[in-house]
Amino acid sequence: MGKTTDKGPAILIHGGAWHIARRDRAAHTAGCREAALAGWERLEHGGSALDAVEAAVRVLEDNPRFDAGRGSYFNKEGRVQLDAIVMDGRALDFGAVASVERVRNPISLARLVLERCEHNFIVGPGAEAFAVARGMSLCDPADLLGTHDTGSWSPAVALGFGRVPVAISGGDTVGAVAMDVEGHLAVATSTGGTPDKWPGRVGDSPLVGCGAYADDQAGVAAATGSGESLMKIVTSKSAVDLMAAGRTAQQAADAIVAQLWQRVRGYGGVILIDPAGCVGLAHNTPNLAYAYVLADGTMAAGVEFSPNSTPGRAEGLAAVREDI
Ligand code: ASP
Repeated sequence: MGKTTDKGPAILIHGGAWHIARRDRAAHTAGCREAALAGWERLEHGGSALDAVEAAVRVLEDNPRFDAGRGSYFNKEGRVQLDAIVMDGRALDFGAVASVERVRNPISLARLVLERCEHNFIVGPGAEAFAVARGMSLCDPADLLGTHDTGSWSPAVALGFGRVPVAISGGDTVGAVAMDVEGHLAVATSTGGTPDKWPGRVGDSPLVGCGAYADDQAGVAAATGSGESLMKIVTSKSAVDLMAAGRTAQQAADAIVAQLWQRVRGYGGVILIDPAGCVGLAHNTPNLAYAYVLADGTMAAGVEFSPNSTPGRAEGLAAVREDI
């Protein structure tokens, strides 16, 4: 894509990769648009990239349609365990949490870790205790339940887990990348992880460099898809390195998704902004829900971006039963 923003503010968000059933596409698109606009509102009024990505991801966490915050997938024990990271490209600083069960907006807890903790990454009950110590109230785990249990829209149910390889399952994780008026970059990623995951399983999403990376001097990236594959190629940092080496955001997005397939036969997608303010996105999953707003007012949202010729995409499409 590579639309230029004249280095002004820009926000690009995703609402997960893999397959989005036809009947769900309009709602996914609407959810992504709402989140991008929430982040854009911050940027428009001079807010920081960090404020923008947190605001956008909170909207997606609150929307039970996405696998983050409320409405996240269950693990094998029927529990929701959430992971999140936020990273500030100014000083390469980040805050992350994993396996939390009583936090309504994990992205805000990750921000609390970023700004008010001597550590960068806390997990499980320790992360929840930190939240309480810093004045954040915990929720009841039941508050995180969405509609997955009814099976009304869940891609996990729709795909019939067990019928698709674990390597290509998952979806609806959320992420946001932004550049503010001062040219600073930030990223936020939040997820309930993959459906039916082993208790305590953590994927790429909250891992710095894997699910997210931001460096004002090089670019910003968020990843989604099969965490087990995305971790192996340190997806987000690898994408940022490509931008540091001179590739545009779109060139880096295409290259990293090709690498994901060629090196580890992985499925996923990335969203990027380069230091020139250009945005890029690519995926080899059948769908990637996304929305963006650029400095010139251009806004777009959808559930599919990459061409079928993207490495691995044909295989992903072949695994989808289009009637669901
Ligand atoms: N990457 C996430 C994970 O593996 C899932 C996703 O992005 O859909 O936990």
